[in-house]
Amino acid sequence: MLSPERVRQIFTLSAAGMPTRAIARQLGHSPQTVRDYLHQRRTPGVRAVSRPGLFTDLFADYCRQRFTEDPDLRPASLFRELTGLGFGASRSTFYRGLTRRLLSPSGCGQSQTRQQTPQGLPGASRLPFCMPALPRSVTPITGEMLISFLTRLAHANHLTLTEVLAVLPSWFSTKVGNRDDRAQHHMLIPAAAEALHALARLTGTTPASLARALPAFGAADAHSPVRATTACHRCAARHGICQPVPVHLPAHRKVCTRHGIWLSDAGQPHLDLAACPEIIAAQHQASRLLRRCTPQELMLAYQAAARAIPPWPSSPAAIPLHWRHRLLTLQTANHRYGTPTGHDAYTHAAVYPDAIAVAARMIKQDPLANSPGPPRPRQPLPEPSPPLKIPHRWSGADAKEDHLSPDTKVAKSRIRLRVILRSPDLGCGRSMLVHAAPADRHVRVA
Ligand SMILES: [Zn+2]
Repeated sequence: MLSPERVRQIFTLSAAGMPTRAIARQLGHSPQTVRDYLHQRRTPGVRAVSRPGLFTDLFADYCRQRFTEDPDLRPASLFRELTGLGFGASRSTFYRGLTRRLLSPSGCGQSQTRQQTPQGLPGASRLPFCMPALPRSVTPITGEMLISFLTRLAHANHLTLTEVLAVLPSWFSTKVGNRDDRAQHHMLIPAAAEALHALARLTGTTPASLARALPAFGAADAHSPVRATTACHRCAARHGICQPVPVHLPAHRKVCTRHGIWLSDAGQPHLDLAACPEIIAAQHQASRLLRRCTPQELMLAYQAAARAIPPWPSSPAAIPLHWRHRLLTLQTANHRYGTPTGHDAYTHAAVYPDAIAVAARMIKQDPLANSPGPPRPRQPLPEPSPPLKIPHRWSGADAKEDHLSPDTKVAKSRIRLRVILRSPDLGCGRSMLVHAAPADRHVRVA
């Protein structure tokens, strides 16, 4: 904002024939500012109206939650997630928004693994092609970090991590030095296949099982959001593992539905959900919602829904249905395991069913409504699919089958077809059994 006196000075110099750039240089303003006042696009003494910020509170909450869930998340990956959610501003606006709101990954310091593990091991002998398998193998846990798997492998064979790394290709030393396992540097990608086979030979397992479980080998989708947590301790105990196993799970997975365990964020204790089965049901509902929206859209809707949950019940009669009642139940049930009651994980778990229910309504009403980005065109609803008919050659009325015995005809009349139905009425991609009888050529879905 320039004062009226300064603007009068600009006009005087311009009337004297001085170019805009020279005026800007002499008065210490940018040429664009001088040009704006000369063309009367701005009023002297009035502050320019700033555009509404594109980095909204909802996006900021999303970023804060993602940095909490995944301390190793890189801002570049987060920018891609926001772009998928409709964030239309530039990369510099995104970084400026992070700086202004003091948002950064919680684990942005130097990792301990980088200090513990050797980078080069110049004198170490590396024999990837003739090394024998270690006598004791360990089972990789789904989503396990590479350094955790190698450390467990070393301890099981009474070795140190350095000794294990010494017989593996240098790819592993470089990889465990990075905090983010899933980051695939272009210099490391060509050697990943050889490294995978070397580890498979050393551990006596198949490359496929290692690639499926360990995100470091890049088999999973590198762009889907993940959260850092520890594996369900009951799942780990099935493989004889007693210590916490750091893993990266899909960001929407909060519960081990097999054992009813709330998988808290890293550093917080897991919770037993046996007293609150509705939380497990909410996790199933969240997984089903992914048929309608992307993981990023689900998490954004969840953020908005969690903020809309009332903090206190409206009346005494509403107390049993309120999440604070569930919170008390969880704290009481987990107290016997020695879990302290002051953790945020209790609140997150207690609110979860309510937040997922609200998020589901938001997504079902309008899958794109929760996105604060620019409006996107709605996809037209597909035409309702016609009723399924059994093809003529599959029905018992085929004249070519007249020569068959009656038993064969009966047997062939019970045709069981596994079809993939793509109808919006029946659910996308659901596998169903279809039974057909010769009398009616219509289909009964079982
Ligand atoms: Zn489990």
